[in-house]
Amino acid sequence: MGFYLVPALVALRNEVNARFSHRDKSSDGWIGDASHAARKSSHNPDWAHGGAVRAIDVDIDDNDPAAELRLLVVEAARHDRRVWYVISNGVIYSRTFGFAPRKYTGSNGHFKHVHVSVVENPAKWTDTTRWLNSEPAWMWNPDVVSDLALVQEQFQIAAGVKKGDRKRFHGVATIQNALNVKHLPKGQKLVVDGWAGRATVSAWRDFEAKAGGTGRETTPDPVSLKNLQILRRFRGEGLP
Ligand SMILES: [Zn+2]
Repeated sequence: MGFYLVPALVALRNEVNARFSHRDKSSDGWIGDASHAARKSSHNPDWAHGGAVRAIDVDIDDNDPAAELRLLVVEAARHDRRVWYVISNGVIYSRTFGFAPRKYTGSNGHFKHVHVSVVENPAKWTDTTRWLNSEPAWMWNPDVVSDLALVQEQFQIAAGVKKGDRKRFHGVATIQNALNVKHLPKGQKLVVDGWAGRATVSAWRDFEAKAGGTGRETTPDPVSLKNLQILRRFRGEGLP
């Protein structure tokens, strides 16, 4: 029988694939297996509507140190008119509860992937409007080693200590990503764009304070980068 993934979710999957072209897809999914079929799940085909499957699982191993796929998809889906609920890391965000985060107690907490279910209204299933932020993605280039001096300069400019050109550096995105993963709670994640903006500098100071610093440091240094376990990404600063 012909079951199919609704076009809205095909569009989401295509966007994720385009943006994370090297991602691991082993935990991807959409059509329910036998264990799904035995229970109520939006991974099962809706035979009243020609076999439509209204849910997708997106593997979150993106192999991209400059962005976080899970965060990107969750944030996009939580604010999308097509979505009924999102499950990620044992947390469910449901339209029924205004997309507020709640503990998910179902059988699969979706720790290796993000689950997105669309609403029951078939009119929304064919809506293939862009899902992810349309800002051009800041692309990580693994061949470029970050220069700590340039990164420090950008932080100094952002903090008003120094004048100069605002440029994007790989190292800033590395720091943003590390702060997102290791420090910031959900809802306060930085956009990983390579800019040392106000939010980035503020998150950095906060991180420094918690790591035993004064909370006034505006410039990443080798010691604090070591605390963040990202020192190895920077050139010429006492690499271990
Ligand atoms: Zn799922």
